[in-house]
Amino acid sequence: MAFKLAIMGAMPEEIEPLLKRLGEYKTTQYAKNTYYEATYSGIDLVIAYSKIGKVFSTLTATTMIEKFGATKLLFSGVAGAVNPELKVGDLIAASSLSQHDLDITAFGHPYGYVPEGQQFVPTDKDLLLLAHEVAREMELPLKEGIIATGDQFVCTVERKDWIAETFDADALEMEGGSVAVVCDALDIPFFILRAISDAADMDASFSFDEFMVSSAQQSAQFVLKMVEKLGR
Ligand code: SAH
Repeated sequence: MAFKLAIMGAMPEEIEPLLKRLGEYKTTQYAKNTYYEATYSGIDLVIAYSKIGKVFSTLTATTMIEKFGATKLLFSGVAGAVNPELKVGDLIAASSLSQHDLDITAFGHPYGYVPEGQQFVPTDKDLLLLAHEVAREMELPLKEGIIATGDQFVCTVERKDWIAETFDADALEMEGGSVAVVCDALDIPFFILRAISDAADMDASFSFDEFMVSSAQQSAQFVLKMVEKLGR
């Protein structure tokens, strides 16, 4: 099977730095979304932003794999910090992901779990190793940890603390956990990178508005370096 790399974000700002760098690409409209194809560093790429949340990100990840033939997937975007060590602009790569709003605990199951699923879906070990290599070369600290995903913008300390305690999470966002389920089911190695835009507290929406673009850029630059290394 030919190697083809998917790079996805959730919002336009998360993929714009990538498209800018590529310069030229082919555009395809599909399922009410736009997919961009290009070659970078000798690697065939398909790039898209999904729109926000678990449903749209599921659709886009599946489309990139099933329709565009992606054989590996990298996600680049922004997230709210849960671990107090993480500050705006810091990078975190998911070791595993869980859905914090998936709840059938009434039947004795843990949060984030449904029968025949996994409470935590692990990301690809080789891509994590590659990311740490890139971090060393770029002299950037890269944290590795659990990311919790849900269909809500978390902006209260109560909810954030609950997610920290329940999932031992370091960061939270709205797409990674669903992309993880898709890639795991379709046996596609995947990597989820996030740069912190806010602290998921009462100031989160203001911090997000101020730092989303710069943090999205941080994440995109890092992912491009990973692509360059994959191309060698
Ligand atoms: N400002 C946007 C909405 C952003 S939703 C608008 O008005 O259209 C937040 C996005 O950034 C999601 O894609 C999510 O993955 C990520 N994110 C950043 N901080 C977050 C937080 N505190 N809680 C949940 N998601 C967060």
